Amino acid sequence: MLVVMKQGATPEEIRGVVDAIEARGFKAHAIPGAVRTAIGVTGNKGALDRPVFESLPGVLEVIPVSHAYKLVSREVKPEPTVVHVGGVAVGGSELVVVAGPCAVESREQMLTIAHAVKAAGAHLLRGGAFKPRTSPYSFQGLGEEGLRLLAEAREATGLPVVTEAVDVEGVDLVERYADAIQIGARNMQNFSLLRRAGRAKKPVLLKRGLSATLEEFLMSAEYILSEGNYQVILCERGVRTFSDFSRNTLDLAVVPAVKDISHLPILVDPSHGTGRRDKVAPLSRAAAAVGADGLIVEVHHDPNRALSDGPQSITPDMLDALMRDLRQIAPVIGRRL
Ligand code: PEP
Ligand code: MN
Repeated sequence: MLVVMKQGATPEEIRGVVDAIEARGFKAHAIPGAVRTAIGVTGNKGALDRPVFESLPGVLEVIPVSHAYKLVSREVKPEPTVVHVGGVAVGGSELVVVAGPCAVESREQMLTIAHAVKAAGAHLLRGGAFKPRTSPYSFQGLGEEGLRLLAEAREATGLPVVTEAVDVEGVDLVERYADAIQIGARNMQNFSLLRRAGRAKKPVLLKRGLSATLEEFLMSAEYILSEGNYQVILCERGVRTFSDFSRNTLDLAVVPAVKDISHLPILVDPSHGTGRRDKVAPLSRAAAAVGADGLIVEVHHDPNRALSDGPQSITPDMLDALMRDLRQIAPVIGRRL
């Protein structure tokens, strides 16, 4: 249910509606819009007592929200959401590129790659300090030491940092160091982690699960928003299909589908989406063309020695070339870079 306030409704009138919602044991989410404020209601089982709310001062109308997802839906908020990561706006007119290694491996590795990412003109730095690996014997990340190295790389380059939290206990630590908290594909339906991220003070980058439908993906984002964190960026990173020539099948068609029904920004990850370094640039160009708000790509200065995801990591030279391509594409699709 959505309570739409009249244009020029006062803060007291908005407060009055929020109080009335909360008095019934529901949650109120005030969503300021370009022209008027809407207040999303969650936690109610059936329809609200519409006439009661319609008669409150400052209320224009009360409309039922038809989808299972509410706060992520354009029905509730028609304008696109711009998420600020450090000083970088994701979901605005600028195409945003997040780049860096799959995993933080060492000080030298992290700083070398961070400087290359900065020199290429990318906007945000990625790197995992906690790695969700398929095998327990694979490199699991440097933990807090990795977070410290990311903070040092941010200091050295000025690039805000995106890094993953793999469990509820880890969010405190990641939140302290990172500018955005990544939730990985394998954790997309880790509901306690989603709720904890919803109480974080930092934006969240939520990756689509390996076999998640669009509805499941949006419902996971809904978990985060429902706890009060509206700063969520979605990320398509490929799903499992019968197709076996690439690691995953990058579902670029999900981008316009998300844009249709949600106000949240969406990035595309062609590295995990293809698993192959030579496919990263072509799929990046396609992602930009299809309307993604940006890309997240894995970069390594010595990919053959990378401790994780070397085969899909592009080199700094390849990142330079990709950025040049994107600068040519951006104006054609009405974006800046
Ligand atoms: C990653 O970004 O390195 C990662 C583990 O991604 P995903 O969760 O999409 O597999
Ligand atoms: Mn990776």
